[in-house]
Amino acid sequence: MLIDGKKIAADIRAELTDRVATEQKLGHRPPGLAVILVGDDPASQVYVRNKERACAEVGICSFPHHLPAQTTQEALLRCIAACNSDPAVDGILLQLPLPAGLDAQACLEAIAPAKDVDGFHPVNMGRLALGLPGPVPCTPAGVVELLRRYELPTRGKQAVVVGRSNIVGKPLALLLARPGLYGDATVTLCHSRTPDLARQCRQADFLFLALGRPRCITADMVAPGAVVIDIGINRTPQGLCGDADFVGVSEKASAITPVPGGVGPMTIAMLLSNTVLAWQQTSNAH
Ligand code: NAP
Repeated sequence: MLIDGKKIAADIRAELTDRVATEQKLGHRPPGLAVILVGDDPASQVYVRNKERACAEVGICSFPHHLPAQTTQEALLRCIAACNSDPAVDGILLQLPLPAGLDAQACLEAIAPAKDVDGFHPVNMGRLALGLPGPVPCTPAGVVELLRRYELPTRGKQAVVVGRSNIVGKPLALLLARPGLYGDATVTLCHSRTPDLARQCRQADFLFLALGRPRCITADMVAPGAVVIDIGINRTPQGLCGDADFVGVSEKASAITPVPGGVGPMTIAMLLSNTVLAWQQTSNAH
């Protein structure tokens, strides 16, 4: 079975559009997302444009802050502080990577945790680790949402996550280990120092790939019937591909996400969802 992230993401956007429209009919202000982009990295410009377009589609007002590459740390922190105190802004997105010389971690920590719709603030990562409610990083949240909507519960299953980054692998492992039907997995978190990755992968009922290595997980590394969620997005001369060798792995897996069209569209959908949630939690919206 092919897991169609594009369709699920469209469903989520439609649900959010309805929710925002219903609240607005009651006279509430629209949700607001501040989008901070520093410099002129072409890939970042494309990502930001896509996010701003997606916001407009669901009725989220985006507030662009496109700053020049020479922006100082102080000026960037001032911009974040202004967004923190702006009552029309529910979420703040700081597009990474920042130009050299700027301290991304310090900037992420300057974002008010309640407006941290990327879920990267240490307070929100801490809340996730403690099992407390709060914004969850968009890509892992999107992965779990796909499982939920396809009714593929992980409870009691062996889950193997390959990749331990702070934005994908690590928070995903925490989500899968949480109590719940789409948690409660026995989680193995693999990385570049894991010996015999193939053996670890073959033990997985659910295999989550976030290595950023094109087609490096091959069919012989996958148990028959496993669910394979390929988070990798790799640019190759032949176009985009995931971390799984799709042709071989899809014959062995019971369900698999394609690249593109799998997890990718879910990431933006969850950013919108986190923004709408932050808006609903802001008392002045109601
Ligand atoms: P990252 O920060 O580069 O982390 C990669 C992780 O994979 C690291 O933990 C690394 O181990 C591990 N790794 C690398 N090579 C390995 C190998 N041969 N065997 C085992 N582990 C290995 O990457 P990321 O930001 O998490 O992104 C991972 C992939 O997901 C990329 O392709 C990225 O484009 C994609 N991505 C997709 C979305 C989406 O919306 N679908 C969002 C974000 C990222 P060490 O820690 O030991 O170095």
